Amino acid sequence: MPPSIPTTQTVALVRTLGGPVEFVHDYPVQLPGQDEVLAKVLYTGVCQSDLHTRAGTAAGADGKPITAIKLPHIGGHEGVGRIVALGPGIGERDPSIQIGGLVGIRFSSRVCRRCEYCLKGEEQYCQGVGIKPTNHLHHEDGAFQEYVCLDAGYITLLPQDVDPVLAAPTLCAGLTAYKAMKNAEVGVGEWVVVVGAGGGLGQYAVQYALAQGARVIGVDGGQQKRDLVTSFGAQFVDFRETPDVVSKVQEMTACGAHAVIVAAASSAAFAQAASMLRIGGTMCLIGIPPGGGHIETTVAEIVIKGIKIKGNLVGNLGECLAAVELVRTGVVKPKVYVRPFKDLPKVYEELERGDIAGRVVLKIGEDPGANVERASKL
Ligand SMILES: [Zn+2]
Ligand SMILES: [Zn+2]
Repeated sequence: MPPSIPTTQTVALVRTLGGPVEFVHDYPVQLPGQDEVLAKVLYTGVCQSDLHTRAGTAAGADGKPITAIKLPHIGGHEGVGRIVALGPGIGERDPSIQIGGLVGIRFSSRVCRRCEYCLKGEEQYCQGVGIKPTNHLHHEDGAFQEYVCLDAGYITLLPQDVDPVLAAPTLCAGLTAYKAMKNAEVGVGEWVVVVGAGGGLGQYAVQYALAQGARVIGVDGGQQKRDLVTSFGAQFVDFRETPDVVSKVQEMTACGAHAVIVAAASSAAFAQAASMLRIGGTMCLIGIPPGGGHIETTVAEIVIKGIKIKGNLVGNLGECLAAVELVRTGVVKPKVYVRPFKDLPKVYEELERGDIAGRVVLKIGEDPGANVERASKL
């Protein structure tokens, strides 16, 4: 290992699901293997899914808890790092991957590039031909550590001039909201309602919808979230102060929204989404409630109104880079609070209470800069 890279590091790990977050200071730094790079983690967002995985309440597609989780578990899938070492031969084989480059540590970690979904450009659903796909939420150590090895063949190379603080939460929250807006297929001047508009995902959904020329209503609770949502140029409905949110939305949109994006993680938030839609409207689901959740909507309402329901899991790498580009160019400005790495347990508590307007980004390590010494090359 080059002298500038330590052999041990600080990580935030969970030994058992539902157990506490523990900071360990002598966790080994892995060497990048064949087709891998080593990145020094600079910043990472804290996503609701990290919280559910730690707590053991993350639900799979069957609605049952996901138990196949690597333990000890190191979460973090909204990270931005700087490449500090390359695996054998990578520099010669692929000059686009260089020491000093900015990279993302995302949900998707390794994909097969050969299955039906990879071939369609939906590699976040990779089913694995030949190799088992992995992600940084369940199978591999994520960004809650100082150094991470990444697959060079599926690397998220970020523009060198993007602000790593703003790029970090865009890699999951931003991408998920961006993809939901694509799925919503709304036109200029059409109405979009974002439920949970003041949270980590919601704030992005509001801004991507506005960037698409939609008229946007954010539904959430409290003054802080109202201030955030209206600062982007959207209207706001406080569900705590509005006795009948559905009627209010119907009235504001003259017959309902063209799309409702449900970015809240509570089952109650899904119940009213269909009734906020106009005929032919689209319900886009992006938050997953603990235990999987159910949509309490009658078949009659779905059929008679011709409602479309679309779920989505993050997005592909191309969509991720498009979402980042809108942040790099200032079209979308996520509200983030930078906090020290050691605050992670506190941030989990605040997320659980729904206290955070915007997103918390943890500072994991100092940036060695783009001109990391060439000696780091292995
Ligand atoms: Zn996430
Ligand atoms: Zn695949």
